[in-house]
Amino acid sequence: MLSYCQDQKSCRRSLIGRHFGESWNPTECHEMCDNCKKTVNQVDGRGSSPLEELDITNYCLDILKILQQAASLAERVTAIKLVDAWCGKGQPSLRMRGRRSPGSFARRL
Ligand SMILES: [Zn+2]
Repeated sequence: MLSYCQDQKSCRRSLIGRHFGESWNPTECHEMCDNCKKTVNQVDGRGSSPLEELDITNYCLDILKILQQAASLAERVTAIKLVDAWCGKGQPSLRMRGRRSPGSFARRL
């Protein structure tokens, strides 16, 4: 999963196909995935945004705290509940006090 997320060059469909033991020709993607689209844009010179390295350690620690809080309360957490709690919404018992706001980082996701 981590290598899938970090791979910025290979066709996403090929990566998924390989994971499930299937062979997928990247030319059949027809620029439907972000990596193939990005490659075409770079070749055309229309410009794509350069990769930006971002330290998300503190955001991950906040999410871990929310999950630990949920575990201590024996609360089941869905992905939606987790994102809501991270953004200061949803169930009050899971919201973090004094946490960093995902702010601009969450908008870029
Ligand atoms: Zn692709």
